[in-house]
Amino acid sequence: MEQLITGIHHVTALAGKAQSNIDFYAGILGLRLVKKTVNFDAPEVYHFYYGNEQGGPGSILTFFPYGSIPSGRHGKGMLNTTSFSVPLSSIDYWQARLQQFGISYKPLQERFEGEVYLYFEDKDGLGLELVFNDRDERTGFTYGAIPPEHAIKGFYHVEIWEEGYERTAALLTEQLDHKLIAEKGNRFRFAANDIPGNYVDILCTPDSLRGLGGNGTVHHIAFATADAQTQQAVRIKIAQRMLNPTPVLDRQYFTSIYFREPGGVLFEIATAGPGFAVDEEPQHLGEALKLPALYEPRRNQIEKAVEPVQLNLHQYK
Ligand code: ZN
Repeated sequence: MEQLITGIHHVTALAGKAQSNIDFYAGILGLRLVKKTVNFDAPEVYHFYYGNEQGGPGSILTFFPYGSIPSGRHGKGMLNTTSFSVPLSSIDYWQARLQQFGISYKPLQERFEGEVYLYFEDKDGLGLELVFNDRDERTGFTYGAIPPEHAIKGFYHVEIWEEGYERTAALLTEQLDHKLIAEKGNRFRFAANDIPGNYVDILCTPDSLRGLGGNGTVHHIAFATADAQTQQAVRIKIAQRMLNPTPVLDRQYFTSIYFREPGGVLFEIATAGPGFAVDEEPQHLGEALKLPALYEPRRNQIEKAVEPVQLNLHQYK
């Protein structure tokens, strides 16, 4: 049977100040800011998309920088860690770079064989990891400050904490084309495609507190599907599981449906296309503030409402 879900599409999180978000992700981590737009449901707030060169599925981390909202709390029913894939030979480079910019991190650890990781957080407390591995064949993007051989290649995995893993696991395997590919202790790893960028780890953490949404937490995770037709097929399967998917929503760069998985995490299904080059030349992605046609008549008002931001790449050499 045709595979309807091909892997992770993007992860979206809540952040504080817009400029410090850009400084951290484009400056220090060197991800490409592939789109600067606004929250389509709250156009006075930016929506930043970071990713690899084209902003391909499995590389896209997006933020709503709300300025100042109360901090959230990591916990069960939440996606607590998003990781980036980097070469095994880049361990010394990245430790030195994080130190250079005053970012503290936990000591290196090995998880599965050939997979060494380092946990750190952004300025708002969002849980991140660098996963050092030799299994990722993607080419990393760099603005120039990070040598190409050390550049981030995209996501490696995401980590979701749950009271119990079974109901989420059943949804992933029965409706979303995932397979259980590894397990260790309380960690169960699923993937629609067994390559870096697509791993979804479910951790059973019954003793942890429930996560609380807010600054520094993930808002939702999106899984990738090929097109409108496969999205509709997934939507039917989700409705059959009584999870009340939303209608298809136009997100300009993809179309989306949303629903909450049984453990409480908001899931989205997003189409691979049309992609970020639909309203900007590929070599100029992220440079201009892009608005959907609906908000274009209000551009003046929106530009006044959002704080001006810039890339400042020279400060992050
Ligand atoms: Zn999304």
